[in-house]
Amino acid sequence: MSADPRRSLPRTDVILGDARLRAATGRLGTAVVKNAVVTALAEARSGALPIDGIADRAHDLLPALATEMRAVINATGVVLHTNLGRAPLSAAAVEAMVAAAGYVDVEFDLADGSRARRGRGVLSALRAAVPGAEQALAVNNGAAALLLAVTTLASGREVVISRGEMVEIGDNFRLPDLMTVTGAVIREVGTTNRTSLSDYARAVGPETGCVVKIHPSNFLITGFTSSVGVAELATLGVPVIADVGSGLLLPDQLLPDEPDVAGSLGAGADVVTCSGDKLLGGPQTGLIFGRADLVERMRAHPLARALRCDKLTLAALEATLRGPRTPTSESLHADPQRLRQRCDLLAAALGAQVVPSQGTVGGGGAPGVPLPGWAVALDSALAAALRTGPTPVVGRVSGGHLLLDLRCVPPADDERLRDAVLLALGPPAAQRIP
Ligand SMILES: *Cc1c(COP(=O)(O)O)cnc(C)c1O
Repeated sequence: MSADPRRSLPRTDVILGDARLRAATGRLGTAVVKNAVVTALAEARSGALPIDGIADRAHDLLPALATEMRAVINATGVVLHTNLGRAPLSAAAVEAMVAAAGYVDVEFDLADGSRARRGRGVLSALRAAVPGAEQALAVNNGAAALLLAVTTLASGREVVISRGEMVEIGDNFRLPDLMTVTGAVIREVGTTNRTSLSDYARAVGPETGCVVKIHPSNFLITGFTSSVGVAELATLGVPVIADVGSGLLLPDQLLPDEPDVAGSLGAGADVVTCSGDKLLGGPQTGLIFGRADLVERMRAHPLARALRCDKLTLAALEATLRGPRTPTSESLHADPQRLRQRCDLLAAALGAQVVPSQGTVGGGGAPGVPLPGWAVALDSALAAALRTGPTPVVGRVSGGHLLLDLRCVPPADDERLRDAVLLALGPPAAQRIP
């Protein structure tokens, strides 16, 4: 071409007239499509693209969704990976969310046309899931549940808590800071490694709003230690809040040291708080279970309005509670034999090795529990290409290898994972142009 190609560049709106780009505008919005066209035009201006290729290129540049968040294949072996959004939702929860995305009777009684209690379906599902709880409440996350519970019971009074439980849960979320913003005065008792019932008994008095028992979920203290269980705390004569964190509603044999909501209530806790997007496998929520009078005070507290869940979350939570087994549970209880078979197939397709791999619960939970499984070992230099490919894959780098642990990969994604790795590997050496 001898003429200056920039002279004859079409205008943006001419390119936007392309039928596929017009359809994409309806799906993704004008700004997103325009961005793609502007990028394609810039490539044409620089001479990297022929003018008749601009619309095609813009179409290729379009994102799949009108959000920058990308769906990721979690091949880390970490079931509740906080950076990857913790629990993946079940198909039932996703469908419920999609249905709730439009107008929905979240706070409306269709029978008589009047206002109704918000999210009553979730509340009955929560009570059905934990029959020992008189009442339940869902809020924005686990931290919000504890914040609301302590503020309601102890603001302007004292909250008694063991020094061994003044912990950082993760990413700068520190229990002492949370307690301080409730407006309660913290009465620390005992020492880092040992606290006894008499320590609590000495601190409890007329100013006590509640005793808080935190499950230190992300570390272990071993050796010369002692702590006071919920059953003993319940003898102190003041409300006991147990923060069990992980969201295990009922005991799980796989996680014998993880306290569960039903067990903590049974032991005498007045209120139990936990997260909804850890072991429960639901959307980000904080759950509060316990005595009807106390939970009712929390629901009526002005802070509850600021911490309430949106309709999408309520829909997903209810479907998680009532619906089929969650992906989180599937991953936790994955059969090692079956994982091995899937790894063998993947490794054969990639010409790679299968190695033993220890998965973990993650999400700051069950730090001492290994989840034995298998992984496909690749060159660690592939990690970046896999993360940034069209199907982002996040593995675990260990001992100079990139491990792809299939524990958290739904079997239906095995072929997508294989294709993503093949793409990252590039054409076989023999076909590469030197
Ligand atoms: C995870 C956790 C929290 C915080 O819950 P979020 O849902 O992350 O806000 C609080 N307490 C304990 C014991 C936890 O494990």
